[in-house]
Amino acid sequence: MYIGIEAGGTKFNCIIAEDPEHILAEKRIATTDPEQTIHETLQFIQQSAGSSHQKMTAIGIGSFGPLDLNPHSPNFGSITSTPKTAWKNFNIKHAFEDALQIPVIIDTDVNAAAYGEFLWGAGKGKRYVLYVTIGTGIGGGFVIDGIPYHGMLHPEMGHFYLPDSNAKVPFKGVCPYHSNCFEGLASGPALQARWGTEASLLPKDHPAWKEEAHTIALALCSYICILSPDILILGGGVMQQDQLFPLIRRKTVQLLNGYIQAENIVKNMDTYIVPPALGSKAGVLGSLALARSTV
Ligand code: ADP
Ligand code: ZN
Repeated sequence: MYIGIEAGGTKFNCIIAEDPEHILAEKRIATTDPEQTIHETLQFIQQSAGSSHQKMTAIGIGSFGPLDLNPHSPNFGSITSTPKTAWKNFNIKHAFEDALQIPVIIDTDVNAAAYGEFLWGAGKGKRYVLYVTIGTGIGGGFVIDGIPYHGMLHPEMGHFYLPDSNAKVPFKGVCPYHSNCFEGLASGPALQARWGTEASLLPKDHPAWKEEAHTIALALCSYICILSPDILILGGGVMQQDQLFPLIRRKTVQLLNGYIQAENIVKNMDTYIVPPALGSKAGVLGSLALARSTV
């Protein structure tokens, strides 16, 4: 049995399972301060393990960040510069290692989701799997030949600058660091700030969605040009608006303007830009997948 924890800013999604078909227990725990949240998570793990008499082999954590993921750093496994002050410099990897004495594999929430999709979802059999979440924040994870990519720290795929796509209704963007980065312009909170309504309550035919699709397509053009992924998986709360998919596909092809002559773009857009096959469980199952990556 393995443990998967999707450690989010509002909730910890926990799963104990062998794989997605053999689940022992699942629980959602509200994210409060680190001590309380970790305590409740450990309680869930110990109770489930105790009552099932199963041995837990390893834990995978897909965490919100930014994170220190440098294995040579003394702070490996810490959350670093988060605005959630109680979690700043908290070492989430150590917390679980110390309590359970089993291997803990930590990565960003989006790398976990990308890895889960690579192993069990839409990215199965693909060499270059990109997963982007568009929710409270925007972030991306990239798996290359089955290995999550980190680079110098880890990518921050939501925080590159984009031009404001709407000249008629000027909007500065809500990112406290950059204003008009991708996250600043297209996250759930950005939609709310721009249109004055909680994103999930905007009607499907609201002009917001055409604008949103345009902004997302601009970002996808950069991902395609820079990373050349084999598949682009778009998850997160905002992407529950499934009318966005055809709009985004069309706009991305239009913006690439015939320059990239790959079959995926010329012919197979419907299977190139897709929702996660694991649905809203991509993050937690991806975390489980990380735990399994030890064996
Ligand atoms: P988080 O990013 O916090 O882990 P989500 O991916 O669910 O969680 O994203 C939450 C954000 O997505 C909120 O800003 C919310 O407004 C937006 N959202 C959630 N559901 C929908 C929906 N059905 N349609 C549009 N936006 C949504
Ligand atoms: Zn930003």
